[in-house]
Amino acid sequence: MKNITPLHSWINQSDLKRPVVIAGPCSAETLEQVMDAAVQLKSYGINIFRAGIWKPRTRPNSFEGIGEKGLYWLQEVKEKTGMMTATEIANAKHAELALKAGVDILWIGARTTVNPFAVQEIADVLKNRDLPIMVKNPINPDLNLWIGALERLHNVGIKKLVAIHRGFSTYDKTKYRNEPQWKIAIELKRRIPNLPIICDPSHICGTRKYLSEISQIAMDLNYHGLIIESHPNPKEAWSDAEQQLTPKNLSKMLNELVIRKAEVNNKNLLDTLGELRTMIDLYDNQLLDLVEKRMSVVEQIGRHKKDHNIAVLQNKRWDNILHRITKKGKEKGLSKEFVSTVFKAIHIESINHQRKIMNED
Ligand code: PEP
Ligand code: MN
Repeated sequence: MKNITPLHSWINQSDLKRPVVIAGPCSAETLEQVMDAAVQLKSYGINIFRAGIWKPRTRPNSFEGIGEKGLYWLQEVKEKTGMMTATEIANAKHAELALKAGVDILWIGARTTVNPFAVQEIADVLKNRDLPIMVKNPINPDLNLWIGALERLHNVGIKKLVAIHRGFSTYDKTKYRNEPQWKIAIELKRRIPNLPIICDPSHICGTRKYLSEISQIAMDLNYHGLIIESHPNPKEAWSDAEQQLTPKNLSKMLNELVIRKAEVNNKNLLDTLGELRTMIDLYDNQLLDLVEKRMSVVEQIGRHKKDHNIAVLQNKRWDNILHRITKKGKEKGLSKEFVSTVFKAIHIESINHQRKIMNED
């Protein structure tokens, strides 16, 4: 995707070293709540205000957004504070109304990115508009769907594009509401190097508790910024009450983030980094060699199972391996989640190798 406009050229932020921060409540609830949040956030140096007007909710009979009138509240935020405003659009009608109301930045939510028809309809409305559009990752971990949505917008002439990593849905409950998949966002960056990426720690975490650790990871991975939910009275929020921070606590969290340099140009530093990276590459090669060796034993077992007509998957054996290995991992300071993810992946690959052997003539 050519000619994507760099984030800092259209965002009003004086300090380029700091991440771009877009903050505001999950939902616009009342004019007073919106103005209160905006004025407080502005006083902490935040220049871009977010608020959901139309809210896609998982179950019906919960608050589905204040609707069109919230757009006038955003206009008031802009007039009174000078902040840029941002809201989510999920269909062509929303896009038309948001354009008419002069919202500065629009975003496409995770539940819309999964739907190419909806994204195309939105793109058709926004055709040739010089408006920044942010695209959240789809709820399922499908990089092409994410890229597809960005392409639909790029194809109609939108150059101020931003990707938002907000985590992915999983069936098994993890400590996060939406599991971050840093590797997918890294691959997105590899495929479209000039595309700015920001992180949405609020929807990844689902709880205030992890916001700072996720924001720090995003900074360590050189994300351009954060979109984060902030409410004057989080506990009373009409949606996503558990994950919002007061403007004051948000500011505290942001000030505690360690922002490292994206590029290094000091020669000594580069030499040291180079050496350490070479070591990493060597260890990675060794890891792969070991996995290859393990796989060849797996294949021998597969032949043995085939000769004696034994099923590929032996649940008990696998339970034992997982138990033993997570215990051992713990002794080495590796988390249970990490060890079980790696070994589950190795196990699936092993089963696939054995099934291939079973199916050979
Ligand atoms: C939101 O930003 O309020 C929202 C609904 O996010 P997502 O699309 O990531 O669920
Ligand atoms: Mn929300």
